[in-house]
Amino acid sequence: LLKSGRLLLKPKLYLTFDVEDFINDRSIEAIDYILRLLNKHHQKAIFFVTGHMAEKLQDFPIIIQMLRKHEIGYHSTSHSVHPTIFEYTDIKDYQRAYQISLDREVAHINPLSGAIEGRGGIEAVRNIFSGKKIESFRAPGFSWSPPHLEALKQLGIKYDFSTAIADRPVKYKEITFFPLPLFIDSILIRSLFYEITQREVIIIDFHPNYMVNKDWWDSTFFAGSNPSRLVGVTPRSMDCVKRKFLRLNWLLEFLDILNKSKIIKPFGEVVHSKLECEPAKIDLEKVYRILAKWPKEQFNYEPRSLHSHLLHFFERSNSW
Ligand SMILES: [Zn+2]
Repeated sequence: LLKSGRLLLKPKLYLTFDVEDFINDRSIEAIDYILRLLNKHHQKAIFFVTGHMAEKLQDFPIIIQMLRKHEIGYHSTSHSVHPTIFEYTDIKDYQRAYQISLDREVAHINPLSGAIEGRGGIEAVRNIFSGKKIESFRAPGFSWSPPHLEALKQLGIKYDFSTAIADRPVKYKEITFFPLPLFIDSILIRSLFYEITQREVIIIDFHPNYMVNKDWWDSTFFAGSNPSRLVGVTPRSMDCVKRKFLRLNWLLEFLDILNKSKIIKPFGEVVHSKLECEPAKIDLEKVYRILAKWPKEQFNYEPRSLHSHLLHFFERSNSW
């Protein structure tokens, strides 16, 4: 595969799924169906699971069993429940924001009050997948926060899938930053093939909940406060759901062909890979733009301390 006169061979492809809707039961059915499709096509993926979801999955041992065949990543303890990561770390004192993150990410969070109630979070994920390494993280809405990520590093996270630093994995402060994913809902297989010729690493992201729900499962939290009770969202029509899964099936078939013809490298778990990473040139402005997008667009919230936390994390004292 030719790119500006040089051959780019065999990009690594990572299929990822964000597992977070603990309110609408049909999202669990969607995960079940996806796992069966992956099995049928001999494809492996990373499933980023929230603490709330880990608690929910306790009642679904067969799904846990199927998930164990894949890599399990972490997707925060409580996702869109207020205070969210970018809200509770939005304080000037970096060290304090780090400590709050550390406390919350090992806790069960009450989804209505947002208060800490006993153990949970990454511990809940580790408990249901005992024996599996949980070392990858994706921030909800890609809105990571520097003191929060440093707290997760303390809790064993080594790979981040939320930060737009480079279009290939790069290492900084002992954390490997993967590039942002492609959203398959908005791209065609034709453009996916183009991406394959251009990149060393391709990440594809799916939301099982969005394949069966008409709205985002967490839209009841978008107003900026938690709802007074947990409310489900409207389902998609059966026809629409069928089309979405048919599309996923095509994609998996396509990936299978690419694997077999050695055009892409088959998925190897990130936690067991030896990645060669070069140091990257960090474009703080770009990192910040993506970081602040989710709070601004979804929650109409403008974090005030993100700038200074970013400067602190990347050890820059100047403004940009
Ligand atoms: Zn998410």
